[in-house]
Amino acid sequence: MSLRIEQHISLQPFNSLALPAYAEYFCSVTDKQQLLAALDYAREHQLEVTPLGGGSNLVLAGDLSGLVIYLNIKGFSYSVADDSVEVTFAAGESWHQGVLTTLQRGWYGLENLSLIPGNMGAAPIQNIGAYGVELADLFVSLRAVEIATGKTCEFDKAACQFAYRDSLFKNAARDRYIILDISLRLSTNPVVNISYPALQAAVAEAGLEADLSPEAVSQLVCQIRQTKLPDPAVTPNAGSFFKNPVIADSAVAELHNQYPEMPTYPQPQQLSKIPAAWLIDQCGFKGVRRGSLGVHKHQALVLVNYQTDGGGTGEQLLALAEELRDAVWQRFAIRLEIEPRVYGQAELADGSL
Ligand SMILES: Cc1cc2nc3c(=O)[nH]c(=O)nc-3n(C[C@H](O)[C@H](O)[C@H](O)COP(=O)(O)OP(=O)(O)OC[C@H]3O[C@@H](n4cnc5c(N)ncnc54)[C@H](O)[C@@H]3O)c2cc1C
Repeated sequence: MSLRIEQHISLQPFNSLALPAYAEYFCSVTDKQQLLAALDYAREHQLEVTPLGGGSNLVLAGDLSGLVIYLNIKGFSYSVADDSVEVTFAAGESWHQGVLTTLQRGWYGLENLSLIPGNMGAAPIQNIGAYGVELADLFVSLRAVEIATGKTCEFDKAACQFAYRDSLFKNAARDRYIILDISLRLSTNPVVNISYPALQAAVAEAGLEADLSPEAVSQLVCQIRQTKLPDPAVTPNAGSFFKNPVIADSAVAELHNQYPEMPTYPQPQQLSKIPAAWLIDQCGFKGVRRGSLGVHKHQALVLVNYQTDGGGTGEQLLALAEELRDAVWQRFAIRLEIEPRVYGQAELADGSL
């Protein structure tokens, strides 16, 4: 099918925060040939290129100039070897559908990552993770097209430089590649990982310790997520709005003198992770409303667009985020970093604006 490039397309249906913004040029690509044609067009017309997946990790604070390419490439393939299988998913496959497909086929490892919104192609960008598992744990490689040249390149796990909600594609390779597909190694043995405390507690509560299948883990994760997080289809949001800050143990010790109840999770290299939700909650922001926007009443880490009075804008959302960041800074001297990618407004390297 030939490529259709349109002008002035609303991105409101394409972002899970339902923020109003327009793409100067927009196209949806369903195969690699169309993607290469779109990149040729962008090069010819000197247009900036923005890849778009499920739109669940974006803040659109203004219109996007250049060409937005919606990755709608579908399909998966696999090869089986002994007790594992390598599955390759095209960028446009839904992440959660992929998780369900693997479980149905008896391929295990993705169950803790059930119900994460978005598509396969974006999963490596921030090394998605939940309930004690992250993409990097199962990742083999990815193929990506270099935007500037149209050349296809392969990146193995080491090359992707995965870290906590971070990868090469947020740093040195930021805005340089469009991910075509990702390959994951899954197990054909039904092993489960319930090391994450909230998951362990849910397993105990459901009385499933004795005979716990990966399918049951997936269902429990879905249940926990549905009770903890607002559904973007009902109350638009982008999941966790801030990363959990990771700070030196020495700074944690000082904070513990003042806030002995502050939860911390030890990390390698004498560092500790502090839940950003706890910090925001302590500053009294849970449930706060600013016009159409607000901090979710049960989950301080989630900023939501209630869509009253025509809905909030990206700029208003960022103003609320700044208010939260200032409050946390004043009280704890910790700088919160915004997790979703901000478009349409200058962004500083530390995620501040
Ligand atoms: C309710 C909710 C819960 C969430 N829970 C979690 C969670 O538990 N753990 C977690 O890690 N994340 C979570 N997220 C964040 C989000 O789901 C993930 O970051 C997801 O991977 C984003 O996928 P997407 O397709 O929607 O990406 P998009 O939002 O479309 O894009 C995100 C970024 O990736 C780039 N991008 C997208 N596709 C490609 C591609 N093919 N090639 C190159 N660049 C690309 C975009 O340009 C953009 O910069 C949550 C979000 C929501 C709304």
